[in-house]
Amino acid sequence: MVKSEYDVIIVGGGPSGSACAIFLSKYGHKVLLVDKARFPRDKACGDGITGKSEAILKELDLIDDIESNPHGIFKGALFYLKNQKIEIGFDEPYHVVRRLVFDNILFQKAKSLVDTMEGFTVTGLVLENNKVVGIKGMDYETKQEKILKSKIIVGADGATSVIAREMGLAEFKPEHHASALRIYYKNIKDLSPKLELYFFESLMSGYFWIFPLENNMANVGLGMSTSNVQKNNINLQELLFREIKNNPILSERFKDAEIVEGSLRGWNLPLVMNKRKLYGNGFVLLGDAGALIDPFTGEGIGPGLVSAKIASQVINQALEQGDFSEKIFRKYQKGMSKIYIEPYMKYILLSKFVGKFKWLFNRAIKKLENDESFKQLVTMSLSDTEKRKKFTVWTGLKLLFKALF
Ligand SMILES: Cc1cc2nc3c(=O)[nH]c(=O)nc-3n(C[C@H](O)[C@H](O)[C@H](O)COP(=O)(O)OP(=O)(O)OC[C@H]3O[C@@H](n4cnc5c(N)ncnc54)[C@H](O)[C@@H]3O)c2cc1C
Repeated sequence: MVKSEYDVIIVGGGPSGSACAIFLSKYGHKVLLVDKARFPRDKACGDGITGKSEAILKELDLIDDIESNPHGIFKGALFYLKNQKIEIGFDEPYHVVRRLVFDNILFQKAKSLVDTMEGFTVTGLVLENNKVVGIKGMDYETKQEKILKSKIIVGADGATSVIAREMGLAEFKPEHHASALRIYYKNIKDLSPKLELYFFESLMSGYFWIFPLENNMANVGLGMSTSNVQKNNINLQELLFREIKNNPILSERFKDAEIVEGSLRGWNLPLVMNKRKLYGNGFVLLGDAGALIDPFTGEGIGPGLVSAKIASQVINQALEQGDFSEKIFRKYQKGMSKIYIEPYMKYILLSKFVGKFKWLFNRAIKKLENDESFKQLVTMSLSDTEKRKKFTVWTGLKLLFKALF
């Protein structure tokens, strides 16, 4: 039996992995956080930090760090749906933070609390008696291969997770993934502290966005289901620039806008409908590695932070009990299902039902435009996990009833 060097090794220092490291450090465990990149590093994202995220960031005492770094603010959202403009206000302002800045805040906080290794690419896992006991990887600078052992491995290595793949959990179904692009622009006309979401016909189930940043800068992008991209042979980059140039709703506002050079980036979004198993003997998966992204908005930072919190509680129990079997980590999946995954499944069912009947969909949009209480019901259902817990079958029926009458 090999002696473990660490209690926990976390692979991936994005929001999910860094938050997990911070939570675990509070319990006093010996933690190593590794990432193939060196921080600060960029990541393709809309940079929108919504209610779910803010609640955890408050818990981690990171709001002041965010406020003292460059950021944008949003106090509401504008939806353009079928040529109608629907506006929703939020109770409190939220942040838009470039991931170059945001992820560095979380990673540096983690680095001040646990051991870290940057520029270390994990290439595989070490298994003993059907249990994960370590990672294999390569140091980018020295080109040296290393094996590192621990009692528990946390896979927080994003959408192309090596840990999920090695454990046979990364099945790829295009209908359960989205593809998205983001680019930074300066000087778009009439930017306001609102998220702008445009549901154009050309994007089918997806949307085009403009999210306000600091210094009259904005995060602009679009995303849609990967199965639609594949079926219709869509070039997302061409579509993005075509909409900006030719769409009458956008073209005037972008007339004098300038692209921030080198800022076009795309990535893949594993959605929560994957229903990925999030655990096994000696390991758990967080955030994108666990395919937890909200299929309606593309939000993945919040679910990643929530998964970090719940996983760290279960990991602490496992370490206290000296039990690293999949039985104990099942509690993490149960926790995530209750607080996050199951409410989404109800939404997906409801939206599939509404989407099947065009007249019902159109009625729901009209209601959204004119009916304040319907708007509130929808906003509540889309906000942070505490409020979303109230999304019962009854809430779903109420939504349907309100859309109908
Ligand atoms: C275009 C686009 C727009 C989006 N907009 C939003 C938005 O506005 N709001 C929102 O909440 N979400 C948004 N998302 C989703 C969001 O970006 C992800 O859900 C989020 O980054 C997940 O965080 P994570 O920590 O799980 O993974 P990541 O942020 O992907 O972090 C994974 C980390 O693991 C490291 N890593 C990967 N492989 C290895 C390896 N083999 N060895 C070592 N390290 C490794 C990477 O370097 C990285 O640092 C968007 C996504 C895209 C693509």
